[in-house]
Amino acid sequence: MGGYVDGHAAAVRPDISAQRIFELARCAILVLERKSGVIISANPFAGALFGRSSGSLEGIPITSLLPEWHTRITADVCPAAGPAGDAGVFHTRGQWVGGHSFSVEVGFAGTGQEPCVVLTIRELRENEGGTADLQNLVSLLNATLESTADGLLVVGLDGRITGINANFASMWRIPRTILATHDDQAVIGLVVDQLQEPEAFLAKVRELYDRPQAESLDILEFKDGRVFERFSRPQMIADRIVGRVWSFRDITARRQAEIKADRALEDLASRADELRKLAFTDALTGLGNRALFNDELRKAAAAGAQELSLLLLDLDDFKEINDVHGHQCGDGMLIELARRIRGVVRREDIVARIGGDEFVVLLPGGSDAEAVAGRLVDLAQRPIDVGGVQLAVSLSVGIAGCGSNCSDQDGGVDLLRRADIAMYAAKSAGKNRFVRFDPGMMSKLVERAALQDNLRKAIAGDAIVPFYQIVVARTGEVCQVEALARWQHEGGIRLPSDFIPHAEATGLIRDLGTMMLTKVSADMAAWLGADAERSIAVNVSGLELRDVDYAESVLEILRTAGINPGQLVLEVTESVFLEEECGVIAQLAELRRHGVRIAVDDFGTGYSSFGRLQELPVDAVKLDKSFTHRIAGPDAHSPIIISMVDMAHNLGMTVTAEGIETREQADYLNSIGCDHQQGYLYGRPQPAGNLPAATLDTLEP
Ligand code: C2E
Ligand code: CA
Ligand code: CA
Repeated sequence: MGGYVDGHAAAVRPDISAQRIFELARCAILVLERKSGVIISANPFAGALFGRSSGSLEGIPITSLLPEWHTRITADVCPAAGPAGDAGVFHTRGQWVGGHSFSVEVGFAGTGQEPCVVLTIRELRENEGGTADLQNLVSLLNATLESTADGLLVVGLDGRITGINANFASMWRIPRTILATHDDQAVIGLVVDQLQEPEAFLAKVRELYDRPQAESLDILEFKDGRVFERFSRPQMIADRIVGRVWSFRDITARRQAEIKADRALEDLASRADELRKLAFTDALTGLGNRALFNDELRKAAAAGAQELSLLLLDLDDFKEINDVHGHQCGDGMLIELARRIRGVVRREDIVARIGGDEFVVLLPGGSDAEAVAGRLVDLAQRPIDVGGVQLAVSLSVGIAGCGSNCSDQDGGVDLLRRADIAMYAAKSAGKNRFVRFDPGMMSKLVERAALQDNLRKAIAGDAIVPFYQIVVARTGEVCQVEALARWQHEGGIRLPSDFIPHAEATGLIRDLGTMMLTKVSADMAAWLGADAERSIAVNVSGLELRDVDYAESVLEILRTAGINPGQLVLEVTESVFLEEECGVIAQLAELRRHGVRIAVDDFGTGYSSFGRLQELPVDAVKLDKSFTHRIAGPDAHSPIIISMVDMAHNLGMTVTAEGIETREQADYLNSIGCDHQQGYLYGRPQPAGNLPAATLDTLEP
């Protein structure tokens, strides 16, 4: 370097001072005090560059011109930043006097021995300043890329990896050492190995490279259960495609949450089904229940177009089975019956249990309801085995149908009502059968309901009164009167056959019996009081005798009327003794203990063997009028009547013959020793007031 100076300097060296060079230089030259960073000298260009006079720069800190001085110059130049003695160049921002900043290149030099540092500063041209902006941009981009949760991979058109972020490596579990090699194949191998469907992955990659413009979003399933979302789009510079950016997002957690939510939903849906099923199932038999039946009936009726048949089944005498064998046995029977019913209908027919022992079968149009009903009745022909006990059962079935236009009102509620009426008709007709509804049943039903209502009112009021029919002894004396109920109704008289069966069917017979005995006692107390041999006969239904207080209530009525119980005869039919109810016998026995006498009415027509009479608490028999009516003509002879009279006498009972209409009958019965006689011959039943005192005293036989 010295040779160069020596060789040419002497010949060309112009006469110019260092100061002049300082003044002419087309770059800013600043001399700083090393320790403080204060400008101690500045050339005129420096003044121009920073918008000030050069003189005004002296004495101010360099940071006034270069605000980033401290971040750029650390230990290199200024003592505040450590040992100096080096030189270098850096880019930073210069500060114009008004606040505007601009890019500058700063050269600095100092040996460390001198107390000064010399700076040369030049403004960077636009493109040169761009480099700094670019750097800023790149740094910003890097920061963004590294802070995203996605894994990013940028691949050039040649297929080589041109960029990745740290997340990509960690998400795909690719060791940095492999990434550092830029070995694409090794990276692809690692990627593909982890996937459930590597072929599909590679195919997608190939497809996208064939269509560089394309964007795609798809899902990658990992062998270890992770799930990534893959987004890919071209990497562009201006309009030019230079590569492809792949972005991967780990959506495993989201996916799991989705799966869980789906499962929960499914679970709920399946439970809803289960709940619905429960709500519509009869717990005992597993058949549908009333809610299901109502629902199906409504649906079928709403559908409108089809015909419908409804079969209502009711077990006959189920209450007895429950009472005698216990509820468990009853339940077992219902379960078996439900199974049998299901067995004789088609899959699409609806079967439900809608009450204790009530089942329904709903048949869609076109079914032969009678045939199904027949099969159902036949079901009960085989006894049901419940826990080793063979139970005989029978079923009554009511059928109702509606035509092609089953509106909700006609076809739904009404259908069940009509089936119910038909079922009751089946019961009344003797049970163990099916009956189809016909409108006539409706009017009978209405009639019966009205009758029941009227009868109740008649009993409560005074419309039912006792008529009396006399009973005469062999002497011709009236020894007894039998009370027979009459209903004074709408100006006429209704006979017992008209209302007694109905009173029995509805339970009104108890009130009727009490009322009758009370009235009879009041009517006849005086007549009875005049002669202890006289008696009154009152008819009693078997139902009244089931009442555990019956004997007590009879005795109470007699007490109230002042009648000796020995003057009352209660007439019962043979059938009351057929009931195994020992309660009935007990009531009769109790009454007899108090002197009340018991007579078997209509004797000979029932099924009890004469032999049983011996064991029964009975004092008298009344020969049914059908026997009396066999006595026709003067030569009549009846060995049967003779045997019956003899047998009764042998058992210590008296015999009354009923229905005496002719003198021959009266004479014959007298001749064979019959104790008492009763019939139109002596008198028809009539009101108490119509019984003349004379008639009551003596009658010529
Ligand atoms: P019952 O006890 O056998 O009564 C005799 C029935 O035969 C009476 O019919 C009577 O009118 C009728 N009768 C009497 N003499 C003759 C005769 O010479 N020829 C014919 N053909 N019939 C005669 P009624 O009054 O219609 O009674 C019918 C049945 O009603 C009675 O038969 C009785 O079982 C029942 N009954 C009547 N009143 C009552 C009552 O207050 N309570 C109960 N539980 N049943 C009653
Ligand atoms: Ca009677
Ligand atoms: Ca009778």
